[in-house]
Amino acid sequence: MSIQLREVSKSFGSFQALKSLNLTIAKGEFVAILGPSGCGKTTLLRLLAGFEQPTTGEICMNETQVAKPGFSLPPEKRRIGMVFQAFALWPHMNVTEHVRFPIRHHQETPPSIRDREQDRIADVLQMVGLSEHGGRMPHELSGGQKQRVAIARAIAAEPSLLLMDEPLSSLDAMLRMDMRREIQSVHRQTGTAIVYVTHDQGEALAMADRIVVMKDGRIEQEGTPQDIYLRPQTEFVAKFVAKANLVRGRWNNGIFVPMSSDGTVQWAGPEVAPYFQACGMYPVRPDQFELCPSGTAGIRGEVTNVQFQGREYHYHIQSEDGTWEICSPLSFRRGDNVSLRLLQTSGSRQEALTR
Ligand code: ATP
Repeated sequence: MSIQLREVSKSFGSFQALKSLNLTIAKGEFVAILGPSGCGKTTLLRLLAGFEQPTTGEICMNETQVAKPGFSLPPEKRRIGMVFQAFALWPHMNVTEHVRFPIRHHQETPPSIRDREQDRIADVLQMVGLSEHGGRMPHELSGGQKQRVAIARAIAAEPSLLLMDEPLSSLDAMLRMDMRREIQSVHRQTGTAIVYVTHDQGEALAMADRIVVMKDGRIEQEGTPQDIYLRPQTEFVAKFVAKANLVRGRWNNGIFVPMSSDGTVQWAGPEVAPYFQACGMYPVRPDQFELCPSGTAGIRGEVTNVQFQGREYHYHIQSEDGTWEICSPLSFRRGDNVSLRLLQTSGSRQEALTR
């Protein structure tokens, strides 16, 4: 199912939670909605689910209008599955019963699935790795297993669209990594379009085909994970997604001279967005700086904080231009004077390397 949002706004009283959103989601696409708390992610998901009506604009599914001001096709008629942060399992039902429920009770379940209920339950439980646990009750399951049941229940009736609202945020860090792979695998096997709400940039970058970054009820930037990470178009995206340091200086014919250098430091920036060139900034990701002993040509700074992270160190470096976050495999101590150089790997080269 493809989805189109045209000029969609949503107000609660005088507060506008969504402002003139235009967004198209292709059939089978995995789209992450990424943004800080309060930017309107859940409101967008609730509009797609049919729990809220838009204040202006329209929502279409396969080019058929499902919502506009004063009209909203109810959730049970939309062929959607939903997974929430809290697993919301029913305490009196075992795993198999959770998966059976939507097959029997969703109005839109295709007869091809209803007629082969047992096979469908077995297929879905296998997809999420719970074949051995069909008889278990929720209190007999771990957090990760509960979330798998919630996913199994959501995909059981073969929805055309799967809505996921921060589905991994109540799991511990290790389990979250496992579940990312599980969700990617479910997406590959079902081919269902997924709209995945998160405030975790790592999750969005790792899983989605496309990321929609939101701020204050608007879309700030949308694109592939590589686009968003390597070619941020605004200060907000550069900071929120790539954790970039915004170095101030002067642009001249595509060459940047940092303010806190003696004028001999010059950086080329073929992929830096026009916005940054216009306001005299260069967004530098923490992994894009090379940290060198003082005396090496570069911007001068002092190490003010060090955190050992295993493969690398995370540093806070105080420069004339402010405090920057930098990661490096080289070891320095707090108080060391250092020089910073830009690693000029172009975005396209980095993309090729990460593929
Ligand atoms: P979080 O990551 O914290 O869940 P979010 O990006 O999902 O945040 P929403 O839940 O969509 O944000 O809320 C967007 C804004 O709309 C917030 O300021 C919220 O307070 C407001 N809001 C949401 N629902 C309502 C409501 N029913 N009545 C009034 N205001 C609401």
